[in-house]
Amino acid sequence: MSTSPSDPDVAADYYDGRSARVHPVVLRLAGDRLEIVGADVDRSEPLAGLRVSEPMGAAPRLLKLPDGAHCEVRDHAGFAALLAAGGHRDGWVVRLQGRWLWAVLAVVLSAAAVTAGYRWGLPAAAEWLAYRMPERMLIQLGGGSLLMLDRAVFTPSKLPKARQQGLADKFAGLAAPGDRRPLYRIVHRDGGRVGANAFALPDGTIVLTDQLAALAADDREILAVLAHELGHLDHRHSLRMLIQSSVVGLVVAWYAGDVGNIAASLPTLLLETGYSRDFEREADAYATAMLEANGLSPALLGDMLARLEAAHRGEAGKGDGPFGYLSSHPATRERIESLHGTAP
Ligand SMILES: [Zn+2]
Repeated sequence: MSTSPSDPDVAADYYDGRSARVHPVVLRLAGDRLEIVGADVDRSEPLAGLRVSEPMGAAPRLLKLPDGAHCEVRDHAGFAALLAAGGHRDGWVVRLQGRWLWAVLAVVLSAAAVTAGYRWGLPAAAEWLAYRMPERMLIQLGGGSLLMLDRAVFTPSKLPKARQQGLADKFAGLAAPGDRRPLYRIVHRDGGRVGANAFALPDGTIVLTDQLAALAADDREILAVLAHELGHLDHRHSLRMLIQSSVVGLVVAWYAGDVGNIAASLPTLLLETGYSRDFEREADAYATAMLEANGLSPALLGDMLARLEAAHRGEAGKGDGPFGYLSSHPATRERIESLHGTAP
C-alpha cells in the first residue's frame, strides 16, 4: 500500500534509544504501518505495535517503538489526525497509565472520605440508626448481653427483695427531665469480679451490683447513679457504641434477623472499652438535670463516683484486671469536679 496524497506528513523528533541525538523526521501513514523518515532514519512500523502517550497540555506526545526508540511529536493536531486516519486506538492499560495522576488522586480522596466517615459519619449514622432499631432487636441485644454476663461474671443478688423494691419505688418517684422518661427496669446482681458497677443495656435494663449498693453512703447516691444510667438510656449510648464498633456485623445480623452474636460483644464494650467522654458527659448532664428537678444535688453523683474510684483503686492493687465502673467511666476526676461545681 502506498501513502495516499491526503495523508499529510507530521514533523517529529526521533531518538534511537541509544544516544541523546535528535533526528528530525516526518511521520506518515502507509496503510496499517507508520513510516518514520529522516536524513538518516527510515523505518516502517506496524501501527498496532506502537504506544502513544496521552495528550498532556502542550507537552510533546511520545510515540514509543518496540525496540526502545521513540519520537516526540509537537504537532498535536496533525498527529491526532494521522492516528485517527490509521485507526489507532491506545490500549486501556496505556490510557490508564496516562491517567495515573487521577488514579492516585482518586485513591487519596477515597481514603480521606473513609477516614472522615469513620470519624464523623459513623457516629452520626449510629445515632440515627439507634433510634430506628425495632424494639424486638433491642430486647434481643439486652437479653443476650445479660445472659452472657450472668454466665460469665454475675451471681444472683443477695440484696433483700424489700430493699430492691424500696430502691425501685424511690427511683420511680423521681420526675425525669424533659417530657419523656426512657423505658427502664432495674435488675440487681452480685457483681463478682466486676465489683461495684452499674450500666444500662439497650433494652432498658439497668444492672446494679450489690457491691455498688453496699458502697453508697446514702440511697440518694444510688438514685444519682440510676439517673446517670437513665441518661445513657435516653441517649441510647450502649446501642450507639455497639453499632459503631460492629457496624458491618450488625447490618448483616439485622438482615439475617439474629443479633445474638452481636449481643455477645456488648459486655466487653461496656465493662472494658467503656463509653467516650462525650457519652459520659451527656449522661452526667442528664443526671444533673434529673437530680435538680427533684431537689437533689448533682454532688451526690460526684460523691458516688469518688467512692467508686477509691474502691476500684484498691481492687486494682490486688490485680483485679480491667473490669470496673471506672474503666467504663473515663476522666472520673474531671467529672467529679464538674458535678460538685454544679451543686446548688
Ligand atoms: Zn456512665
